[in-house]
Amino acid sequence: MVPRVVVAGVLAAVALAAALGATATSAVGTSASGDPADPLTLAAQAPASPRGCQYRPRATNVRSGPAGRRRIALTFDDGPSAYTSRVLDVLERESIPATFFVEGRKVAGREQLLLRMLEDGDMIGNHSYSHVDLSKASAAAMTQVDDTQDAIEAATGFTPCLLRAPYGRTSRKLLGALARRRLTSTLWSVNPRDFLAPGTAAIRQRVLDGVRPGSIILTHDGGGDRSQTVAAIASIITTLKARGYTFVTVTDLLGLGLKR
Ligand SMILES: [Zn+2]
Repeated sequence: MVPRVVVAGVLAAVALAAALGATATSAVGTSASGDPADPLTLAAQAPASPRGCQYRPRATNVRSGPAGRRRIALTFDDGPSAYTSRVLDVLERESIPATFFVEGRKVAGREQLLLRMLEDGDMIGNHSYSHVDLSKASAAAMTQVDDTQDAIEAATGFTPCLLRAPYGRTSRKLLGALARRRLTSTLWSVNPRDFLAPGTAAIRQRVLDGVRPGSIILTHDGGGDRSQTVAAIASIITTLKARGYTFVTVTDLLGLGLKR
């Protein structure tokens, strides 16, 4: 140990680090060693909920992830809604994460659902404030984007880095405006059209027929009666697991690191 009198400034920095370490540790319990500032001990503990993503610019529409591995992402749009907790129950039972593209207007009063998503390891993305066509990237459209970022951040402390444009409508101008906001436009490669309520069996079969390594699957947990979707997902998940697929969030699929 370096003598205290010689390096007061360094010790002040160490004390600050210890204080920060103690703050971080208090949220997840005291370490076995009893040293809250030990970085190895902190790293071994359960990660805190994410605050945001490590930025990687992508001024393009993402429709799927790398095809080299049997990793896929299940996504839910138009929530949160009365069906969302049932979706989360299924995901929890199956121990898989999903990605939820939420509408800003639906966040108030459902903050606990969003917090649960992050605690469960799910990802939250932006789906505009009130489900409008963003493709003109007008001032009003970008206010829809910004207000939704604010609503999600206020509810959870997490800043999304993914946006799914309503109706899948994007444009070069929108992609530029999203990139400046550190948002990646996320579309899909498998669409069972569950929003038309074609029946649980049809939703299941369309997903199973369409999935390939790297697929991003579009389903809905809000915007109408989603009981067919809720009924279909458990069977979809168990079948695809049996075919060797691993479910990951879209951020994981794209290799976007998280800030915690
Ligand atoms: Zn939508």
